[in-house]
Amino acid sequence: MSPFRFKVVFMVFLLFFLCIVVRLFQLQIIESDKYRGISKTRRIHTYPLEAVRGSIFDRNGTVLAVDQHAFDLSVKYKNLLYSYIVHRKKEISRISELEIHKKTKEACIECHKEEDVWLENVSEALSIPKKDLLDNSEQVIMKVERLKRIVERRNGRSILVKEETDFHPVVFDVSLEKIISVDVKKEDFPGVRVNPRPKRIYPQQRLASHILGYMGKLTDEEWKMHSDRWNDFILNASLSDMSEDSSSLLYDGYAKDDCVGRFGVELYYEEELRGLRGKRFEEITCVNTEIKKVVLERPPLQGNNLYLTIDSQIQACSEEALGKHLGAIIVMDTWTGEILSMASNPDFNPNTINNDFQELSTLSSKPFLNRAIQGALPPGSIFKIITAISALSDQSIDTRSSFVCQGFTNYKNIIFRCWSQYGHGLITLQDAIPYSCNVFFFETAKSLKQENFYLWSKKFGIGEKTGIDIPYEKEGNMPKLKTTAMTMNVAIGQGALLTTPLQCVRIYAALANGGTLVYPHVLLKFTDSRGGTIQAFRPENKNKVVLSPAVLDIIRNSLQDVVIRGTAKNMGLEVYKVAGKTGTAETGKKGVNHAWFAGYVPYDKPRYSFVILIEHTSGHGGEVAGPIARKLMTALFPEIEQSS
Ligand SMILES: [Zn+2]
Ligand SMILES: [Zn+2]
Repeated sequence: MSPFRFKVVFMVFLLFFLCIVVRLFQLQIIESDKYRGISKTRRIHTYPLEAVRGSIFDRNGTVLAVDQHAFDLSVKYKNLLYSYIVHRKKEISRISELEIHKKTKEACIECHKEEDVWLENVSEALSIPKKDLLDNSEQVIMKVERLKRIVERRNGRSILVKEETDFHPVVFDVSLEKIISVDVKKEDFPGVRVNPRPKRIYPQQRLASHILGYMGKLTDEEWKMHSDRWNDFILNASLSDMSEDSSSLLYDGYAKDDCVGRFGVELYYEEELRGLRGKRFEEITCVNTEIKKVVLERPPLQGNNLYLTIDSQIQACSEEALGKHLGAIIVMDTWTGEILSMASNPDFNPNTINNDFQELSTLSSKPFLNRAIQGALPPGSIFKIITAISALSDQSIDTRSSFVCQGFTNYKNIIFRCWSQYGHGLITLQDAIPYSCNVFFFETAKSLKQENFYLWSKKFGIGEKTGIDIPYEKEGNMPKLKTTAMTMNVAIGQGALLTTPLQCVRIYAALANGGTLVYPHVLLKFTDSRGGTIQAFRPENKNKVVLSPAVLDIIRNSLQDVVIRGTAKNMGLEVYKVAGKTGTAETGKKGVNHAWFAGYVPYDKPRYSFVILIEHTSGHGGEVAGPIARKLMTALFPEIEQSS
């Protein structure tokens, strides 16, 4: 056959095929109410074929999330119904009114002997108490009978609803060995069907739980929303443009009881991960609801795999370094914005989330909060570098400017205190950053151009989402600077100023890389089910903060001094050539602070940028975050011998 003729034949065939599917779809789904019960002897029954969700890997190919097969057992409605009537000795009025049932209960048991076999055999084969099976049956029956009553009342006659001919799951999550014992002796299990169902497994347990997220069942409202949208899509596609994307007509949207990604990349990349459910069209006869033949079948399409930028080992070390502290640690590639680790404590186990959810969601420590991107807190002294950059750039100060710190300063009748009650004496910028003198920055703030200071903060992304590919990021807050007193507070990272750890790590990356505000992301690439790369992540770094080389030099040197002779000295960080800034942010409660440490490493050839946040601690930034930074460094540079 010539290629042209082949094409024509193929198109005709495809069109014909699509017409059948669209018509079936209209009859079965869109107009199902209208056609409910139109044929009592034959109907087309669609049966979903589950798609495997794509796996999630770290940057080195370690599996972080994968679908495994789980099995459910479904039982024909008729069988459920009669077992329930016989064993629970309850009446279903529409049944007991049938001629054959007007005799005695014994007669009923006699007439449905066969339909009852499944109960005994399933109970025995899977060692599940009959009571549990009957409980589950009861739930299905209540639902279906209620539906039937509604449909019949609306139509004013007795009607066979689709659900009466369906199989309904009553046993969930059966192991492979046990399911085989059912499947090989099908004749012992009349009316029973095995449903393979993919189940999400997180082999690393709690690791990176906030990045991964978890799977949860669609709520009724969500399902309705999705199915309405899908129906609209199908109708529009079948009415208007048949050629474009018409193949999706053959797939199914979400089904009731489907699990969808919630939280983390499971949610953010749901569309890529989920794949497309296939469909089997069966013609069944309703005399005994046996499958007569399969009319057509569309196999499911597997979802795409996700490779994350996360390094499992660095992630594990970050989580370990954080320990039981409330807080977050982020390690990011200084140049690309790739997130190597993002720890937030407390966390959760996505494998057991369906059992734990209620309990965890009531905890005051908020384990579902991803503190790395959702915790918006005052940054304290780690913000002082923006004050310094702003003041140096508009020449409010230079490297020779000095102020006297006697532990406090005044503005009007307000006292602003340094953290050191004895004061730092005569101090310049080169000492004010390493020793974190507040008074120096209070005095600087008095002469700052407020508008420029606000703009510099904005340029560094304060109060704006970074756009990371994880849902629910918070933007923090950069207040409009209206008064000098307000500016003085913001200058030391307090007041109404709120930043997320992610914003902070990006600022320090910009200082290290020469001013590029990188686009933080966790996606490395997608691959298809055969392993071919579909799309590698290419971030666009549009924002470059223009910094004068002289200013950058001053800042970088003083950040180095923080570790050499300042608030983070003698912590074993020098050997790793860490440059950074400690911070202690007041919470408003006396003696309770947030401890910060942000920076980059090594300072002469920056590779990693990092931020450590410990919430609600009694210690100062350096004391609490320093030792944690040290632990983190040993994980990042295992090759460096520890000298202290
Ligand atoms: Zn009966
Ligand atoms: Zn001071």
